[in-house]
Amino acid sequence: MAAPAVESKVATALRVVFRRVEEAAKRSGRRVEDVRVVAVGKTKPVTLIRDLYDSGHRCFGENYVQELIQKAPQLPDDIKWHFIGHLQSNKVKPLLAAVPNLDMVESVDNEKIANLLDQTVTNLGRRSLRVLVQVNTSGEESKSGVEPSDCVALAKHVKQNCPNLVFSGLMTIGRPDYTSSPENFQVLSSCKDEVCKELGMPECQCELSMGMSGDFEKAIEMGSTNVRIGSTIFGPREYPNKKCQ
Ligand SMILES: *Cc1c(COP(=O)(O)O)cnc(C)c1O
Repeated sequence: MAAPAVESKVATALRVVFRRVEEAAKRSGRRVEDVRVVAVGKTKPVTLIRDLYDSGHRCFGENYVQELIQKAPQLPDDIKWHFIGHLQSNKVKPLLAAVPNLDMVESVDNEKIANLLDQTVTNLGRRSLRVLVQVNTSGEESKSGVEPSDCVALAKHVKQNCPNLVFSGLMTIGRPDYTSSPENFQVLSSCKDEVCKELGMPECQCELSMGMSGDFEKAIEMGSTNVRIGSTIFGPREYPNKKCQ
């Protein structure tokens, strides 16, 4: 479709983000094409996501299953959805069934969920699903993710025992106040080195999903290939009473 005469607010915000991505990539001798921007629309209305879609963006992320299941059918099916939240066993089937254009699950953190995703892909006859192993790099009890020392084992499990999943790399969430992100990113980067070595995987095939609104430039400088950006694009989220729209 033709570009709208007046650019939407979210499209402008994304353009600014891309400029910052480009600068950060340049500083670290990387190419802007090697960094994917996942626009995280959680708690935001479908209309805003649509505005961003209309500006040409195709990669979006959500972290509540219920919200993604509601939104995906209302939006074009060439969107590449990333699921970035905690995934419970009983939500695997509803998620995959409702979102055929789910491109990646970034938050696999145990064998059981990996097996279930693998089985469900077969049962639904959908194409293979890309997954990342989520690593808890901040040591916070409340965070999902495997311990850094367990990431090789889980990555290996996915690669060897889940033929319908494509192990594509590692993901982490730093502390909410961003205080420890460089350390967290360093940990994830070391995990990647180990995984690539143990699995005989080329570095360029192992993604690093790290960096959000407050720390994505730092993350890119430290090797991130996938930044997940919400509030900088869509504006601050309004909790707590609006969770699922
Ligand atoms: C919400 C969320 C983001 C985006 O956070 P912002 O700080 O708003 O950019 C990124 N990753 C995950 C896992 C999230 O839940």
